[in-house]
Amino acid sequence: MENFDEYETVFIGYPIWWGDMPMIVYNFLEQHNFDGKTIIPFNTHEGSGQAGTQNTLENMFANTIVEKGLALRGADAQKMEADTQAKIDEWLEELGFPKTEIESSTFNFETKTVKLNSGYEMPILGLGTYALSDEQAENSTYWALKAGFRLIDTARIYGNESGVGRGIKRAIDEGIVTREEIFVTTKMWTSDYENGESAIQASLDRLGLDYIDLMILHHSQPQNDITAYNSMEKAVKEGKIRSVGLSNYYDEDDFDRVANAVEIKPALLQNETHPYHQSGKMKNHIAKYGTVLESWYPLGGRGHTQTLFNDETIASIASAHGKSSAQIILRWHLQAGQIAIPGSSNEQHIIENYDIFDFELSQEEMNDIAKLERNERFSNY
Ligand code: NAD
Repeated sequence: MENFDEYETVFIGYPIWWGDMPMIVYNFLEQHNFDGKTIIPFNTHEGSGQAGTQNTLENMFANTIVEKGLALRGADAQKMEADTQAKIDEWLEELGFPKTEIESSTFNFETKTVKLNSGYEMPILGLGTYALSDEQAENSTYWALKAGFRLIDTARIYGNESGVGRGIKRAIDEGIVTREEIFVTTKMWTSDYENGESAIQASLDRLGLDYIDLMILHHSQPQNDITAYNSMEKAVKEGKIRSVGLSNYYDEDDFDRVANAVEIKPALLQNETHPYHQSGKMKNHIAKYGTVLESWYPLGGRGHTQTLFNDETIASIASAHGKSSAQIILRWHLQAGQIAIPGSSNEQHIIENYDIFDFELSQEEMNDIAKLERNERFSNY
């Protein structure tokens, strides 16, 4: 094991095997120097508790602290019901590892929203408008709001913020939604990073709104993205933007570079994410800032959707539920805990994409889709 010397505390987990620790754990213990370190054991068992392994560990090392371990019944560990979780939390708390301060953002399937670290509720399913003309964006936005969508994603570089604004106005004028009920995201383009303040005002003007629910930086650009981010933070204080975030940060250190330099932590990271590029590691990484992941190219993006729709696993789950492959993929995004913003200029597709709240993927189906991970992006953008 690399860098073993750098660890002060080592958690050792094992199943009780014939009343003892498995041989592989003994091998590990014998091959490493635990002097001055703390060991925290935990195990699963079928009724024998720690079966004396706590004592074995205490007797094995003279210069090592062995903390009080935890023994869980195998079946309870597998089910992980609330009382088992509470037992683990209590044990960790006793050991001085209190539950992490940041509440992980949970998706509420009743309200179809997630609470951001900014305190605002954000819809978990939205309409994407990339590659839509101004006129298409107007119609798609209007159809989406009519179909139940409450989140619209646009960007200054798409050249359709005005169309999105007109679509919103049409829906508000017709009494379909109120401004407060909807959530509008736009993005600051990289060439505007030095002039954030005027870029924000220009987006507000084109959208015809007096505040933007979420504004994100379109792309990592180390020479001036923090400057741009600071201009969004200023706009938050002025009430022009409610939440701020990032897009296209694929390297954990690059994300940290910005997140650690700013006052208002990113509420969201929008990255290419779909069954062949699931972004699990990044999603876990950003969760420590309370940052939520949002998937662009949720269906693979133009030109690639058929690859995903015809994937055997996805197609067979679709036929089992009597749903389309697109609906299965979108439902997977939400159950996996990432916001999805499928793009479309087709009213029937838009209606179909919102019709995913009347069924649920089983744990097994979620696991099968998880296995499709290839860590492969369709875009090199
Ligand atoms: P997507 O994965 O949503 O796929 C869009 C394609 O799927 C279109 O060709 C559409 O016609 C088709 N489609 C949609 N619903 C369908 C259905 N029910 N059945 C069959 N086909 C269907 O790709 P996207 O639109 O490029 O990405 C989603 C959104 O993410 C964009 O619209 C945009 O808002 C955002 N985005 C952001 C970035 C970024 O850099 N931050 C990059 C790309 C996209």
